[in-house]
Amino acid sequence: MSSEQLSYPEKIDIQNCEKEPIHLIGKAQAHGVILAVDPETFKITQASENTFKYFGLLHKHLLGDSFENLIGKSAFERITKAIDQKTGFKAEELKIGNKHFVVLPHFSEEHLIIDFEVLGEYWEPMFLQQQLTNTINGLDANETIPKLCNTAAKLMKSIFDYDRVMIYRFDEEWNGEVVAEEREEYLESWLDLHYPASDIPSQSRNLFLKHKVRIISDVDYEPVPISPEISPITKKPLDLSKSTLRGVSPIHIEYLQNMKVGASLTAAIIVHGKLWGLIACHHYSAKFINYFQRETCKFLAQVFSNNIASIQTGIFNKKFNENSELRAKILTDLKIENTLGDGLENTEIPFTSLIESGGGAVVLDDEIKLFGNTPTEAEVIDLSNFLAENDEILFYTKHLKNHYSAAENYKKSASGILSFKLGRAKNNFIIWFRPEVVETVSWGGNPNKKITYNEEKQRLSPRNSFERWTEKLDGISNSWQDYEIETAKAFRENLNQFILKKQKEEISRLNQNLQEANKDLELFSYGISHDLRSPLRGITGYAQILKEDFSENLSAEALETIETILKSSNRMEGIIDDILSFSKITGGELQKKNFSTNKLLQELLMTFNIKANYPNLKIEIAENLPDSYGDRRMLFQLWSNLLGNALKYTEQAPYPQIEIGSFAQENKDVFYIKDNGIGIAENQKDKIFQMFSRFAKKDFKGTGIGLAIVARILEKHNGKIWVESEPGKGSTFFFHL
Ligand code: ADP
Repeated sequence: MSSEQLSYPEKIDIQNCEKEPIHLIGKAQAHGVILAVDPETFKITQASENTFKYFGLLHKHLLGDSFENLIGKSAFERITKAIDQKTGFKAEELKIGNKHFVVLPHFSEEHLIIDFEVLGEYWEPMFLQQQLTNTINGLDANETIPKLCNTAAKLMKSIFDYDRVMIYRFDEEWNGEVVAEEREEYLESWLDLHYPASDIPSQSRNLFLKHKVRIISDVDYEPVPISPEISPITKKPLDLSKSTLRGVSPIHIEYLQNMKVGASLTAAIIVHGKLWGLIACHHYSAKFINYFQRETCKFLAQVFSNNIASIQTGIFNKKFNENSELRAKILTDLKIENTLGDGLENTEIPFTSLIESGGGAVVLDDEIKLFGNTPTEAEVIDLSNFLAENDEILFYTKHLKNHYSAAENYKKSASGILSFKLGRAKNNFIIWFRPEVVETVSWGGNPNKKITYNEEKQRLSPRNSFERWTEKLDGISNSWQDYEIETAKAFRENLNQFILKKQKEEISRLNQNLQEANKDLELFSYGISHDLRSPLRGITGYAQILKEDFSENLSAEALETIETILKSSNRMEGIIDDILSFSKITGGELQKKNFSTNKLLQELLMTFNIKANYPNLKIEIAENLPDSYGDRRMLFQLWSNLLGNALKYTEQAPYPQIEIGSFAQENKDVFYIKDNGIGIAENQKDKIFQMFSRFAKKDFKGTGIGLAIVARILEKHNGKIWVESEPGKGSTFFFHL
């Protein structure tokens, strides 16, 4: 980022108002001096231009001079020691000339910045002690947040005596409301007034989170320029975020002037790390409270914040625990055999009562259930489509139509919604609806008129009327509380568990069905093959008898017909055998063990009676094949099918050759069987492992089941098979277990 972009813009307009870099303001307030020092050389590099007033030394003489000369040896040593030992700086009192200051050093980027703040009114230690005790005792005695706020406002007023002390609370959208107030009698009350979020923009809120207490001692002060404006060290404007004397944004000054405020003190109320609200004090003339008094104020704000946190935690725990019991009851009523929608419809305690609401909805893929006061079914479906576009699992708002304009039509029943997505589905929701609250809200001035462009000043002006401005709430429900949001999250967890349990049950039911179906199938195929085989034997037997015993009496045509019968029935027998072995493989359990691959192959050669049946064949089997681990019966079948194919598809080769071997690849033993048969076309390589796919010419007998069995056996062994081949030259099948 260039220094240009970082410097304080001349002109703040609607576009950059939220971005106004209030920490780079380049000005000091008038009740002290800001110095920037180079921590390498301890030379003063920048200073506010009021040094003569406070130190009796001209600004131009201080720049470039040693910092030690100004503050004296012992104070200098204390500061450098804190830097060396990294102990952090302590505020300390110091006299320069005849004036007393509180010296507040801190680091900012590559500068050591020192605020010299006038000491002001002195408090007796006894008085201080008393204020602290009052603070703790006073704040501890409150059981509710409204009471606590009232006490805090009273204490602040009595200790610091500002004309008006307000406790200002932020809502979810950072609008503020005055929830407690102490004021001088002649002032009109601002209690219950609301202020729009833009009155305290996000960058101010962030600074409050860091620095907790801030004063403007004189709204009509003349801002003191810090010069040079650009730091000679960083070549950028000085970052004054941590300076207590930092000048005030001109827009904010004008805002206070419009309110006729002369001085202010603001302390942050931080609960669970988040800005909960502010203690905002106004005085109608200039007023300064010094560093030590501000520390007391910080202490009060801290105790106040802790008390709020503890009351809120108490409420949260109580409500959440009550809800946990309700949740448990709902869950015991959910029946696993019901759909979730039916289940939630039939619980004794409706799920909608978990969270204060007018009604609710369960939206699932194939069902939608509405409970209580809700928009129509079609409207809820449209709403769920809108919610599905959002990536968040949980969505809640008290002002739905602000996010989704169609909600205008049903704001009576659903101005607010709290919803969550169920499981992994994008479109399944549980939703609670909250009706519109019929209330008016009073604003401190019409919030819609907050920004105007001031031609004369060439910048934005905040609104200048703070007259009570009343507005009827439109399409807004009560806010969703922390414990309600947490209850929704917990309930989501519960329902997801329930859905998971249902799915598990469904899967195990399907599994059981599948197992039964498999058994049936196995029995069926056994049955078929058994039942078909005997009539088939009859056919073959009688055809054989016809052929052998009656051939002289039969015409050549009849004999040919008998041949066809015999061929067909043979083929049928082959198919029956293959179907039977396939069903045995798919249904059977594996009995894995280690065995010698070479021995298995020797057995196989015997069953094929290779020497007698394939006298021309040259077959080579590697001698030391690795052992196999698996179901021997199945792997016998696997080798048998592969070898069978190799024999079959080399039948027409002039010098048929088959080679069986193995090699290691990525820790696995890969076996291969290579032949010099007809080969396989590229586009058939994947298909040959499917059931009943055959590509060889008609003169090669077969059923198209053999390789499907091979693939199935390997699947059962978590193995893999692939083939390399060149049509006309031969094929090699590779597999590993
Ligand atoms: P079948 O051999 O009974 O037709 P398979 O499932 O064993 O059935 O084989 C499927 C197809 O794969 C065969 O029809 C053939 O086209 C091809 N095939 C299998 N093995 C080989 C091989 N060694 N050489 C050439 N083609 C083969």
